[in-house]
Amino acid sequence: MSARDLVAGIDIGGTNVKAGIVDVASNEVLASCDFPTIRDSEQAFLESLSAAVAQLAEQVGKPRAAGISIGSYVFADGSIDGMSSFVPFLIHGYPLADRIRDAFGLPVRVDNDARLICLAEARDGAGKGFSRVLTLTLGTGIGVGLCEDGRPFGGEPFIHLAGHVKVRTGGEYPCLDAEPCYCGMQGCFESTCSGTSLQAYVHDRLGADITNRELFERAAADDPAAAEIVEWYLDMLARALNQYVYLYCPDVIVIGGGVAKGLGRYSDKLDALLVAEVYEGQKTVIKITDLKEDSGILGAASLFA
Ligand SMILES: [Zn+2]
Repeated sequence: MSARDLVAGIDIGGTNVKAGIVDVASNEVLASCDFPTIRDSEQAFLESLSAAVAQLAEQVGKPRAAGISIGSYVFADGSIDGMSSFVPFLIHGYPLADRIRDAFGLPVRVDNDARLICLAEARDGAGKGFSRVLTLTLGTGIGVGLCEDGRPFGGEPFIHLAGHVKVRTGGEYPCLDAEPCYCGMQGCFESTCSGTSLQAYVHDRLGADITNRELFERAAADDPAAAEIVEWYLDMLARALNQYVYLYCPDVIVIGGGVAKGLGRYSDKLDALLVAEVYEGQKTVIKITDLKEDSGILGAASLFA
């Protein structure tokens, strides 16, 4: 039996780390684990990553390299900015790739999480077969990634904060606009359509602490108040989608993240709301993700595929 080509994929979040070892040929996660992100000690943080990879390697074999996914801006030299990680020692200029390379004794590449989700979609998800793939991850915030021909677009994740395009004036909804978004504006797409924002809007409108998932279930069961909120949400979402078509001319936009689960039955509606056209006859396709939970691991590992 020939040796398998194994690469570790590690998705570092502000609260949790997901680590796995991927068989590059089949793009399959052979073993994985997750654990809380250690936030109070850099040394303990690096050791927790090494220990996880060592433990997974005992189960399925040693990886030849490690790809790392993180929410920060990632510079070409593998250092990060401090804006999006929310971990105290992961500050601007932190040489994340170098530190993990030293800890693991393996080649390491680091990239932004939204870009790596896009890479996973473009290679093996709903974006497969398309040239220009844009992904929107509607979660706690909104992540944006762009790939061209199976590779991240540009040397660095220049557009990962494109979720802050404006979709409304701002100030219309006190539940969303009590404070300006951290981007400095009111009425941006993230402060309207992220999972967090939708939850705040739902809570305000329905006066009950129902989840986004329950909102979509109620709308599907023809509850008028829920259906009205979903209509509003689709309208706001479409405002951003149309801007992304004019800005990036993607062949496909893949929508993922927690909110995407509820959007599947509205694909036709979103398609109808997407009126932007970059040249006569151009049409961007809208798809909802079908990737599983481990897309962060697969995207990170694919930095070495
Ligand atoms: Zn914003």
